[in-house]
Amino acid sequence: MTAPRPDYETLRTHLDTTQRLGRLLYASPHPAACDELIGALKAALRAAQGLYRPTATGCLTHPAGPVEPEPQPGDTRCLLCNGRRRGTRPREAR
Ligand SMILES: [Zn+2]
Repeated sequence: MTAPRPDYETLRTHLDTTQRLGRLLYASPHPAACDELIGALKAALRAAQGLYRPTATGCLTHPAGPVEPEPQPGDTRCLLCNGRRRGTRPREAR
């Protein structure tokens, strides 16, 4: 089972926390405050990464499109984009 996808609100909350902790660290530099900020930054990073899930094609235009079965040098995993670039269209796209 995969972890649930963080929502934008989760990211926003972590970013708000990092801002608050950054101000505190600036006002009162302390190793523990720095560690706390770093922890909050890592949580924000995880939330940001969770907003994007890679697709089989890795293509933003065709995330659910067919996957290139035999990629050539310079190809992507997206069969539709590769076909467009080569000037051919795969059967699935017609
Ligand atoms: Zn594509």
